[in-house]
Amino acid sequence: MKRVFSGIQPSGTMTIGNYLGAMKNFVKLQDEAECYFCVVDLHAITVPQDPATLHQNTLNLAALYLAAGIDPAKATLFVQSHVPAHAELGWILQCIAYYGELGRMTQFKDKSAHKEVVTAGLFTYPALMAADILLYQADLVPVGEDQKQHLELTRDVAERFNKRFGETFTIPDPYIPKIGGRIMSLEDPSRKMSKSDESAGAYISMLDEPDVIRKKISRAVTDSEREVRFDEERKPAISNLLTIYALCADKTVDEIAAQYQGQGYGPFKKDLAEVVVAALEPIQERYRALLSSGELQTILRQGAERAAASAAPTLAAVKEKLGFLV
Ligand code: ATP
Ligand code: MG
Repeated sequence: MKRVFSGIQPSGTMTIGNYLGAMKNFVKLQDEAECYFCVVDLHAITVPQDPATLHQNTLNLAALYLAAGIDPAKATLFVQSHVPAHAELGWILQCIAYYGELGRMTQFKDKSAHKEVVTAGLFTYPALMAADILLYQADLVPVGEDQKQHLELTRDVAERFNKRFGETFTIPDPYIPKIGGRIMSLEDPSRKMSKSDESAGAYISMLDEPDVIRKKISRAVTDSEREVRFDEERKPAISNLLTIYALCADKTVDEIAAQYQGQGYGPFKKDLAEVVVAALEPIQERYRALLSSGELQTILRQGAERAAASAAPTLAAVKEKLGFLV
């Protein structure tokens, strides 16, 4: 059986971009593979986090995983900091990854630009991400398009380690959806939607109230002309909204474009808001039920135990190969 690993940072509230680009595939893969899904809190602290907010976001994200359809009987759901092997292997892989290759990561360049504080952790974060994946000998990593470069680095680091110390890690492949792998900001279609965006109008959070969703979509930027047409180059904003519509309504982009031919942006946006509200409503209902049920702590504790047991042999092999006393 194939192994799958992926994580989402509790750096804000999960967005519809995280859902359509990553989480939807997690739900699908749990029926086909041995899956490890993680709330990667160690990654979130690469940028400053308020402790109370981080605590709440971690619980919220775990509940959202479950509400979106992750079944703890099928997949292992856990919090990264509960399994110390991540930090241990993360350090070791920092000593395998090169400064030069980390410096080429576009996410680091984007996230460090114009910032007063840039932590060392933000720079070395891809080595920790490599550790997350390699610890579980994952074959597949379902992610959005923005993580492709980090996945390539993970493969390079794994190959380097294997070559130097002997076969140790499975070389993982990215698993990126053809449509929805890069949902763009509602305020600037040249930037990807991000849950840590300073402007809440740029994203739709999975927990936004229906009226907030309606307002954000009505304010979303559009392109010149009045035609609802998919053309990522000339009409990036409308193409992004069409993608969101199609994925939430379970239709193709062409079907939606045909439906609004000759109607302009107004009716399209109005219906889009309702489609998104309808897609999120059942998830939000399950989310609220989960948070009040008190089940969450037990699920996360059991998940951490399972993850730790699965990660242990890899970490032990790595230490032995490096020459550490065991
Ligand atoms: P942050 O701004 O804090 O980095 P984020 O929204 O980028 O938050 P992550 O936790 O970094 O979210 O990523 C979680 C998963 O969601 C990853 O697989 C990532 O590739 C995917 N993802 C993130 N943004 C998008 C997007 N706009 N479209 C599709 N997938 C996305
Ligand atoms: Mg991100």
